Parts: sequence; structure tokens; C-alpha cells
Amino acid sequence: MAKRVLIADDSKLNIAMITDILHGEGYEVFSVMSGVEVFDAVKNIKPDIILLDVIMPGMDGFSVCRELKNDYDLKNIPVIMVTARKETTYLKTALEIGAFDYIRKPVDSIEVIARIQSALRYKEYQDKLEEMAMKDGLTGLYNHALIIDLLTKEYSKQNRQGGPLAFAMLDIDYFKKVNDTYGHLKGNEVLKGVADIIQSSIRDSDIAGRYGGEEFSLIFSQVPADKVFTVCERIRRRIGLQSFNLDGKTINITISIGVCYKPYGVDISRNEMIQIADDALYEAKHSGRNNVKIRYAGEELIDMPHSYLNRFKTL
Ligand code: GH3
Ligand code: MG
Ligand code: MG
Repeated sequence: MAKRVLIADDSKLNIAMITDILHGEGYEVFSVMSGVEVFDAVKNIKPDIILLDVIMPGMDGFSVCRELKNDYDLKNIPVIMVTARKETTYLKTALEIGAFDYIRKPVDSIEVIARIQSALRYKEYQDKLEEMAMKDGLTGLYNHALIIDLLTKEYSKQNRQGGPLAFAMLDIDYFKKVNDTYGHLKGNEVLKGVADIIQSSIRDSDIAGRYGGEEFSLIFSQVPADKVFTVCERIRRRIGLQSFNLDGKTINITISIGVCYKPYGVDISRNEMIQIADDALYEAKHSGRNNVKIRYAGEELIDMPHSYLNRFKTL
């Protein structure tokens, strides 16, 4: 797929010249003529790289770059500053505030392509490293550290935005027996299969991770309690129905799920949420396994009203 380049420059002529060079190399090119327009453009276009003119009326290139580098979602897009200024202090500032590179005008076609390619190669490498640091190698789900990070992030976000937050812990029932019977490697295949079912049962905005070993977790932001319960029930049922083929034998497994549901305004910490989900999981295990227990976090800890749970029992 063609890489997308966003150019911000207040001169139409400069934009036209650089666009010509980039089109010749197969890049998809977008442009804006002021600094403030960059932010909307970045969100709509999702460019792979940004070429930023330093001197523009209103918001200059340095201020735009600073703001981009302070934004969690945008900071990894490489920025190349472009300017006619010859002073090396400009170059120094550009690199200090997080620009990847610096090009002097008038731009040379070979130089601009070489610098863009170098930035894109670096970005690809950085993305790969980031992916490896975030994901669990076996299942492809987020790893433990990321789950805790994302829960922390969603916790503050919902405290600000006024939405509910739910954290679920999922644990395979009697998994030790699978390992003992078929070996660790076959056990890993089951873990991968379970992770695939979990991932394909949730929406893009829900978050799934491998909490550790044969335990998984889910984060639901701004999802009503009945919906959270329905999704967990669906995952539990699908896993129970899936047959795993190990050494020519077909086996079935089940999973237990404990959920902490925190409505907006309830004052419990992130760690308390994890503890409550863990308690609910313990309860699910001790009431026969292969079931979902959801705990509503209130001023005092209460179970979901029984009638409420009953509504879902027939699903
Ligand atoms: P329970 O229903 O109480 O959860 O029983 P269980 O046997 O699943 O629970 P227990 O915690 O005693 O055992 C979990 C097992 O999961 C033990 C461990 O060997 C296995 N396990 C943990 N991580 C991995 C892994 O990465 N791969 C494989 N194959 N097995 C793992
Ligand atoms: Mg366990
Ligand atoms: Mg287990």
C-alpha cells in the first residue's frame, strides 16, 4: 500500500514541488497550508510521515511538532522539519523537540526521498519493537504489563468522562489436566485457540489480554452491565462448544469468568477492581466452574441482584 505523506506549508509552490517529487515515487500526498490544520488532517488522513514547514503564519512548525510529540496517539508519526533558514540553531531545536530529521529548502528531490525512506524504515522498526513489547508471543493478545497500563488509562479516562468500567478475569478450568495428559506444547495450542475465541467475541473497542499462564483478562469501557455479562457468557459458551484436536483425540474445555463492574462515581481503586474480579472468579470456580460471576462495585460490595442474573441464565 502506498505510504501517506502529509505536507504542511504556507506556500502553494513548495507544496506543488514536493508533491511532484513524491508522486514520482508512488507516495500518496496530502497537504494543508497552516499549522493548526495539521491536527485534524492527521486524524483524518493517518499519514505515515509529516513534512512540516518551520515558518508558517499562526502556529509555526516547531509548535505543531511539540504538540504532536506530546500527544500519546500521534507522537510516533515521524516529523521532518523543512525550512529555508540556514542557521544550525534551527536544526538543533527541531531535533530537540522530537523531529526525526530536518531538510533545507530549496529541497533536492533525491535528498527528500532518501530522508523520507530513512524515517519510514526507522518507524517500521520502532513499530515492530513496540508490538513485541506489548503483545504476548503465544496468543498475540496484549501482555500482562499492557493490560495493567490500559486498565490504568481507561480508569482515569472513565473517571473524567463519566462512564462505567468493567474488568474481567478468565481462567481455564482444570487446565493442569490438559498439560499432564497431552504435554505443555499441546496445552499451548489450546491456549492459542482460547485466545482466538476471546478476541473474535469482542468488539474493537473492548480490550483482551493474557493476564498470565492460563488466565486472560478483558477491559470494557463504557459498556452497560448487561452487555458485559452477555459478552462474557458468549465467550464462556463458545469455548465450551469448541472441540480441540490433540494427538488425534478430541477434547473439550471450559472456562470460569469473574467480573468487576464499576459504575461511574464509585470510589474504588484500579487495584481493588482487579481484586474484586479475582474474588468473583474464585466464586465462579467454587460454584461449579464453567460459569460467569459479575460483581457490581458499590459503596459496599454486593453481588448483582439475583433477578438480574436470572435474566441471562436462559441465554
Ligand atoms: P482450576 O480449574 O482451579 O483453574 O484448575 P487448573 O488446573 O486450571 O489450575 P491451576 O492454577 O492449578 O493450573 C494452571 C495450569 O496452567 C498449571 C500450569 O502448568 C498451566 N500453565 C500455565 N501457563 C502455561 C503455559 O504457558 N502453557 C501451558 N501449556 N500451560 C500453562
Ligand atoms: Mg490459574
Ligand atoms: Mg485454571
